[in-house]
Amino acid sequence: MESTLRRTWSEIDLDALIYNYKKIREKIGSNVKFLGVVKADAYGHGSVEVAKTLEENGADYLAVSSIDEAMELRVNRIKMPILILGHTPKEQVERLIDFDITQAVTCKAKAIEYSQEAKKINKTLKIHIKVDTGMSRLGYLCDNDFFDTGVKGILEAITLPNLDAEGIFTHFAVADEDDDESLKYTKHQFKLFTDVIGEVEKKWGKSFKIKHCANTGATAKFKETYLDMVRPGLLLYGYGKYAHEMGLKPVMSLKTVVSTVKVYPKGTKISYGGIFETDKQTRVGVLPYGYADGFFRSLSNKCSLMTKEGPARQLGKICMDMCMIDLSDKPSVDVDSEIEIFGKNNSIDDLADIAGTIPYELTCAVSKRVPRTYIKNGEVIAKELMLRM
Ligand SMILES: *Cc1c(COP(=O)(O)O)cnc(C)c1O
Repeated sequence: MESTLRRTWSEIDLDALIYNYKKIREKIGSNVKFLGVVKADAYGHGSVEVAKTLEENGADYLAVSSIDEAMELRVNRIKMPILILGHTPKEQVERLIDFDITQAVTCKAKAIEYSQEAKKINKTLKIHIKVDTGMSRLGYLCDNDFFDTGVKGILEAITLPNLDAEGIFTHFAVADEDDDESLKYTKHQFKLFTDVIGEVEKKWGKSFKIKHCANTGATAKFKETYLDMVRPGLLLYGYGKYAHEMGLKPVMSLKTVVSTVKVYPKGTKISYGGIFETDKQTRVGVLPYGYADGFFRSLSNKCSLMTKEGPARQLGKICMDMCMIDLSDKPSVDVDSEIEIFGKNNSIDDLADIAGTIPYELTCAVSKRVPRTYIKNGEVIAKELMLRM
């Protein structure tokens, strides 16, 4: 399996992860808990190693999107509290309880199902109530005319038998936008969230142990939204403008090598469709990195990848398993030379911009045939290849 590591591979810099975690910790202060969002295999970084690292460094909570993702962490001996943000079918309630997994409760129907299932087995399910303050996705709708019914629904859920309402949370829709309208929107979401909590706690006569709402944008910009816990994802992995402003480090570097170098005369069409034609003699490198590895075909002929002699233009259509780059003015880049697709030298944010997307999508897209190498204290501590072998 070693040989695959010199095809295309992703390097996960756990030292950078620890650095980012500590910087965010410094920013939020010691009274605020830290939840690391590790859904979608930690945004493609490998949820087990990321969770282990966060656990060792004193993070308080993890969040995933499904019970399978939560179980993957438990099976790999992660002991920290885990919150499932998304949908869990009621048949899984016993497993949630037995593996000490916290479930988000997003509406009346789910609250009732979960309570009934837990009651059947005479156990208690730990829940966090999700409030919809303007994301219009999951959660109790509470805005404007829905305030009273929202509060009533939440009260009903938290007083159902066999449910333990440990927390309450909401999710911001535009906390990572800097224009005035977005600022106003986020402020409104936050005020509504705290109003709902105030009203529910008054009627309940108790308070939620953990109130949380701050995603990456809010963690970076709005101290007043921290409440009991922050809940960043992207910021932790070191991408986007806020990570840049805070001096955080990109955790993933995606790398490949030059497999072949050829020199073509002027007038040669390169790759499927012949959308690129050489306008002079051109030295072309073939890389074993294509859309089946997670490259975006929409980036064809539009982006650059980083060589030791600077950025090299990608040429022609990106194929399933390969792509081509222009090495004409880079004589020292040859067969077996390392190329950085994104990472410390080639910003993922720039590549995402060109693709018309966000960095999240690029790290999540790195496919399972790309092995991961984990680095800690500057040394490789683990390698993973996620194929069925
Ligand atoms: C994904 C997610 C987050 C983290 O978002 P970032 O933008 O990566 O900080 C936080 N909360 C919820 C509910 C999410 O789904």
